[in-house]
Amino acid sequence: MKIENFSINIAWLYPDLMSTYGDRGNIIVLEKRLSWRGIKPVIKKIFISTPREELENCDLIFMGGAQDRQQEIVNRDLQKTKATTLKKMINQGIPGLFICGAYQFMGRYYKAADGTVISGLGLFDLYTESPGLTFKRLIGNIVVKLAQDGKKYIFTGFENHGGRTYLGKSAKPFAQVIKGYGNNGKDKTEGMIYKKAIGTYLHGPILPKNPELADWLIEKALERKYKKKIYLEKLDDRLENKAREFIINKL
Ligand code: GLN
Repeated sequence: MKIENFSINIAWLYPDLMSTYGDRGNIIVLEKRLSWRGIKPVIKKIFISTPREELENCDLIFMGGAQDRQQEIVNRDLQKTKATTLKKMINQGIPGLFICGAYQFMGRYYKAADGTVISGLGLFDLYTESPGLTFKRLIGNIVVKLAQDGKKYIFTGFENHGGRTYLGKSAKPFAQVIKGYGNNGKDKTEGMIYKKAIGTYLHGPILPKNPELADWLIEKALERKYKKKIYLEKLDDRLENKAREFIINKL
């Protein structure tokens, strides 16, 4: 099949409620990097009112971060209608990117700053607790390192979370913190990866700053959909790399 005939349905979960610190930029990057290669991006916005069948047809999932209040609202909808579908999709190996509040949903629970406990999907072996409003939030630029598919990367982003995430024994962190706080400000772990789903505290947004991650998600989505090894055409990322180097050297 020619690459021009390829298309990817991207589920953008709760764009009206779960999108802070430029998370929307991640969708723009996926859209652009697909169309620059002649692959058709179809963005499916999944709201509370959207039936879960819309989600079922998607090849890649994205959900951004939010404040505690929005997380509670979204959680009610997830538990009522979409949690089972989402879990099934992630377990089937559909790639996903879950930022901050969305990442917290993947774990067992999130205890919000006011003590409210928001149950999670229980897919990732982790839990998150906010120590309360009097404690400092973990805010600032962050630099992390990771190895994926035999390659090493240094990624950067911006984090802003009150919740401290603790990984269980079976959890594989997404990255190791070089500068910044990461999961809890103590153990140097950042995010978690489960099958092809990544949870991370890196807003930024993360994908414009780290285009390799966008391509990894695209590649995994295409490979799953078209059942063959995909070699993505290289794009000119000189500007992105320069911007990233600049930030890393400044920190
Ligand atoms: N409300 C969550 C916290 O403070 C998530 C914040 C976010 O998504 N930026 O930990």
